[in-house]
Amino acid sequence: MDDCIFCDIPVNQRDRLVFENVHAYGIFSPTPAVFGQAIIAPKGHVTDVRQLSGQRLEDYVHAVPKTFEEIRKMLDSQEGRERLVRYYLALNEYPRFSKYALHMLSLSGNILVPQGYNTGTNDNEFAGQSQPHIHTHLFPRTVKGDGIVAMVRNFVR
Ligand SMILES: [Zn+2]
Repeated sequence: MDDCIFCDIPVNQRDRLVFENVHAYGIFSPTPAVFGQAIIAPKGHVTDVRQLSGQRLEDYVHAVPKTFEEIRKMLDSQEGRERLVRYYLALNEYPRFSKYALHMLSLSGNILVPQGYNTGTNDNEFAGQSQPHIHTHLFPRTVKGDGIVAMVRNFVR
């Protein structure tokens, strides 16, 4: 669909991809609330997860843990962490988050390697779905007390 960012990314913004399979992909969130936050979306315009079936649904579901594994691998290396911090520094509209990213980079390696993750999907505008293309937010958990509980309260509107 024209004018849909989630349709455009796998076609024209491939440098943003963290993971992809045939029918789905993962990217770093442009509006992160936690370090390494990602978004997983199906390729091709789909407003509602119920429109997916078969291999398309399987690829979307599998892309969640696969994207997490890519993020985990990236955060397990200094080079990967620096790539992520550069990405955050380029998000000029989130200067506070860029400072947080630099702070995270200054921490020791093990603290930054996520051990698990949470996911969230806003299904329907009524539930806060802001883009008319279904997607899942992935929140890597890197440190205890990362503020994710408060963040989720804020995220779910
Ligand atoms: Zn779309």
